[in-house]
Amino acid sequence: MKIGFIGLGNMGSGMALNLVQANHEVNIYDINKDVIDDLSAKGCVGCSDIKSAVKNRDVVITMLPEGTHVREVYLDKLGVIENSNKNTLLIDCSTIDIESIKTVGAKANQNNMSIIDAPVSGGVVGADNGTLTFMVGGSEESFNLALPILNIMGKKVVHAGGLGAGLAAKICNNMILGISMIALSESFVMAKKLGLEQSKFFEISSKATGMSWAMLNHLPVADIIETAAANNYFKPGFAASMMVKDLSLAQAAATTVNLNTPLGSLALDMYKDFVSQGNGALDYSAIIKLIEDN
Ligand code: NAD
Repeated sequence: MKIGFIGLGNMGSGMALNLVQANHEVNIYDINKDVIDDLSAKGCVGCSDIKSAVKNRDVVITMLPEGTHVREVYLDKLGVIENSNKNTLLIDCSTIDIESIKTVGAKANQNNMSIIDAPVSGGVVGADNGTLTFMVGGSEESFNLALPILNIMGKKVVHAGGLGAGLAAKICNNMILGISMIALSESFVMAKKLGLEQSKFFEISSKATGMSWAMLNHLPVADIIETAAANNYFKPGFAASMMVKDLSLAQAAATTVNLNTPLGSLALDMYKDFVSQGNGALDYSAIIKLIEDN
């Protein structure tokens, strides 16, 4: 297939390379020229603007930081919708607000184009290894068209519902993760202060009712599990600033449905506090420092 890929950062670069390895022709564009040069040397086709990246493509994929970037890249006169063929399938994998994808979707529909939101879970390791989980929102027909491509970049692809449903799932999922990491951090700090060995508490809790995905994969304590950022001075991984973004999206989404989520709200305040102390580039599991310092 002929694919256009826009946004080749931590996530997008591994995803694009997996498509190249599966013998697809991948045009790439990013405002950062260095990543275009790097990936061009690895088999992608570097482009100097969006127009050339999306020209005559079967599929266009975007992996951008926030809703503002997605709206700009899709809706601008020089952007994706104006410059793609009508039968090009548009796939936005960014984690953004639901309103933005619906705005872009309305414009795509006006132009008789199909679009899905397909945010991911699994981090940079999942992007590099092609083991992401995709949560997809859009029509059944668009989902089926996208499936073979998403299956190259991921190991699990779920159709969550109509446009925006993938993002709803992603936002709710990350609210669980943000809250879980704080619960995990409080418990491990308290266990230590109560005189328990950290590894002993892990041995017990990981086999008891306190066990969680965050505990087994992102434990905020060093030298117990292999995949913890804590083993590497909290180098991300998934940055604390990204967690602030996702918990902010969760609070904004809760407001749209008049729901109070006090734990989600407190988790956001704690991550904001942590990031405001200059820790935004640390892994989100470093939030344990905030608890240790109190
Ligand atoms: P990133 O900042 O590393 O990459 C984003 C890329 O988009 C950058 O290369 C940037 O130059 C490019 N870009 C920005 N504006 C652009 C524009 N107007 N035109 C073209 N390119 C532009 O971010 P990331 O870590 O790859 O994350 C991307 C998305 O995936 C985010 O929404 C994030 O929340 C989500 N996500 C990230 C992770 C993770 O672990 N990093 C996990 C799951 C989901």
